[in-house]
Amino acid sequence: MADPASNDVIPAPAQPRVPVRGGGFFPVHRIYCVGRNFADHAREMGATPASEQPDRGIPMFFAKPADAIVTGNADVPYPPGTNQLHHEVEPVVALGADAPPGVLPVEAAMELVFAWGVGLDLTRRDLQAAAKAKGHPWDIAKGFDHSAPVSELVPAAAVADPYSLQLDLSVNGEPRQHGALRDLIWNVAEILHELSKLYALKAGDLVFMGTPAGVGPLRPGDRFAAALGGVATLQGRVTGAAV
Ligand code: MN
Repeated sequence: MADPASNDVIPAPAQPRVPVRGGGFFPVHRIYCVGRNFADHAREMGATPASEQPDRGIPMFFAKPADAIVTGNADVPYPPGTNQLHHEVEPVVALGADAPPGVLPVEAAMELVFAWGVGLDLTRRDLQAAAKAKGHPWDIAKGFDHSAPVSELVPAAAVADPYSLQLDLSVNGEPRQHGALRDLIWNVAEILHELSKLYALKAGDLVFMGTPAGVGPLRPGDRFAAALGGVATLQGRVTGAAV
């Protein structure tokens, strides 16, 4: 039922929220994602890494809906419309303040970072390949329901040196992806600077920073375990059946 005290004509959608270590919840405004931000993953996808080109250019961005998050180490239902669900383990930053008007200077960007986490940018790889071939948008490959499992968020004050952290994903106990945050092509401050040229960054935004090499399939019944160094962990299981 719509709240009779409001003028809403339908019930207001639930606000997506991510638990924060130490207590409380982080309400999600938007989810931005960065593509090809590790050279080894760009190569495995058949692209030349930006870091190996004469001009690094600008990062590639896409987005997921805020309610794509899955929290609390919950199960992830196998999505419809795909035979090729892929994992991409990624560092995640959570913004705790609005960016000031205009372009956010690189030197000021980290002041916006409230917390760190680890997430999966789940991808319908077959639909992405078809979209790439046709020059179509990536939305149906990236922005589907339950496509953004994310760990508890860890306040930035507790993360002394994020660029010393490693990123790992195992599936059914077997290592699948490994990377180091020092190998990001664009670091977090540079990503926030570039995003601010395109969007008004707000408190409540999550940014998935890109994945290292080793992306691969997830099948119904698979268990995944992701870690951002000793800072954050994410576990889950894929449920349901593939189409
Ligand atoms: Mn990704």
